[in-house]
Amino acid sequence: MGKALIIGAGGVASVAIHKCVQNSEVFEEICIASRTKSKCDELKAKLDGGKTKITTAQVDADIVEDLIDLITEFQPDIVMNLALPYQDLTIMDACLATKTHYMDTANYEPEDTAKFEYKWQWEYRERFEKAGITALLGSGFDPGVTGVFSAYALKHYFDEIEYIDILDCNGGDHGYPFATNFNPEINIREVSANGRYWENGEWIETKPMEIKREYNFAEVGQKDMYLLYHEELESLAQNMPGLKRIRFFMTFGQSYLMHLKALENVGMTSIEPIEYEGKKIIPLQFLKAVLPDPASLGPRTVGKTNIGCIFKGKKDGQDKTYYVYNVCDHQECYREVGSQAISYTTGVPAMIGAAMILTGKWNKPGVFNIEEFDPDPFMEELNKWGLPWVEDFNPVLVDALPEESKQPELVR
Ligand code: NDP
Repeated sequence: MGKALIIGAGGVASVAIHKCVQNSEVFEEICIASRTKSKCDELKAKLDGGKTKITTAQVDADIVEDLIDLITEFQPDIVMNLALPYQDLTIMDACLATKTHYMDTANYEPEDTAKFEYKWQWEYRERFEKAGITALLGSGFDPGVTGVFSAYALKHYFDEIEYIDILDCNGGDHGYPFATNFNPEINIREVSANGRYWENGEWIETKPMEIKREYNFAEVGQKDMYLLYHEELESLAQNMPGLKRIRFFMTFGQSYLMHLKALENVGMTSIEPIEYEGKKIIPLQFLKAVLPDPASLGPRTVGKTNIGCIFKGKKDGQDKTYYVYNVCDHQECYREVGSQAISYTTGVPAMIGAAMILTGKWNKPGVFNIEEFDPDPFMEELNKWGLPWVEDFNPVLVDALPEESKQPELVR
């Protein structure tokens, strides 16, 4: 049915590529291109021999001209950006120049400031629309499936959604005192930033990890979760009519928070360049180099993730609540594709998002967040490709939990 150029060959890309190859009816041909070509070749060697034709290429996705050359040579129907958020705009520029559809899993980030804002990518709306091509933003799990869940809840169960709480629980254990489950730089930027949520049209800022609750997650159990800012809050706050409040909570263990605090206290999580032996280095990038590669956590990680959204709103004048979530087992993912569940839960929706565009099920020119499309075909594919979802119409609401706003002494 189509050709996809996949940029990046890391944890998320590896899962997405496994899934594209499983879905060979849609992905007839893929080209895996990344900065380090050997990683692309390794993936090709592992997955070659099926119906999907695989080629590889070296590309620096920071350079628009090089991307244009590669796209012109390979002629893909879509570019799947599974590199890092720093490359979003250069890849979008190359897609515009070649009139090729685009998708990613994370919003653009300037290297020097952690912003988590869509504004740079939303500025491309008119240009993509005029070019007759689609940019699908945030087709991972969160952002990604959480937006699809929201669109699905609104379409099928509510006249108006007033409250959304996104709950992201990783009950996995990799046995290290400290490691991050996906790209450490992006992960640490996310959790060391101030928390923020949206209520009655305003953003309310909190200190990092200031708001804590304990939630009993299905198939995982009781976990501490903390309010964070997360990028889908920005688009969902705009795209869900009648919304009064949206928040995001993520679980963290004490060991993780303790290490993070210590690293922060000594300056290792800073993104301000420092001079070291005559060379400028960014402490956070150096930290990334000494931490375990997220890809190496696969074989050691046991336990499950549980990610979903709790909605509260109105249907036919009555109050209504609805919780939809997915539970994913780290070891099952590892057995299937050689990666842990964090990469899996992102790579599967990346493949599905691209498939939505390649099959024409999602077909409108412009730049869109995922909740702006019809959720139904995507929800069906989640069940088919390894991320089945569960519905609960009587969930425990976060507001019903005792307040535990104080963090433990250790991490203050
Ligand atoms: P990794 O660090 O494992 O992989 C990143 C890949 O991008 C590597 O192959 C890297 O190549 C490549 N890359 C980096 N810079 C360039 C460049 N300039 N040109 C070409 N290739 C480049 O990251 P992950 O797989 O963990 O994450 C991928 C993306 O997914 C990130 O944007 C992350 O934020 C996002 N994500 C989204 C989630 C969601 O739910 N929405 C959840 C988790 C992640 P090299 O090997 O040479 O460094």
